[in-house]
Amino acid sequence: MSITTHRGHQGDFTWEEVPVLAYKQAGAAPFRDVTRQVLFDDAALGCQLRYFEVAPAGHTTLERHAHLHAVMIIRGHGQCLVGERVFAVGAHDLVHIPSLIWHQFRADADGPLGFLCMVNAERDRPQLPSAEDLLALGQCGLVAEFIRR
Ligand code: MN
Repeated sequence: MSITTHRGHQGDFTWEEVPVLAYKQAGAAPFRDVTRQVLFDDAALGCQLRYFEVAPAGHTTLERHAHLHAVMIIRGHGQCLVGERVFAVGAHDLVHIPSLIWHQFRADADGPLGFLCMVNAERDRPQLPSAEDLLALGQCGLVAEFIRR
């Protein structure tokens, strides 16, 4: 993406010349109905700002990694898992995902959930839960009930 000073919002959470991409490569990890847009990606910043949108009842991948996420919900509502806690989230809420903490976002069934997510430009690959990890996560009833695979 070239660096452009101004990109207008085109409506419906899309921006001029910002392609709406697949969230991840199909089959690379479990997820359902998520798109990704990279809003800012200037190497001089050292970080990227992305917009993710989860369709109604969709969910992001249950994952963890060394890099952090700084998230602001800007559309709709849903829930997010961070470690052993599940939060109801809605527009303008902030979510900080610490290093190596399991996390997953889910949209409520009645509308999409959209959020901005800031990450380091250079970052490690997400880890997916092993069978053992899932067993450990399942010890917490709330988490077991929440997660989607
Ligand atoms: Mn992540």
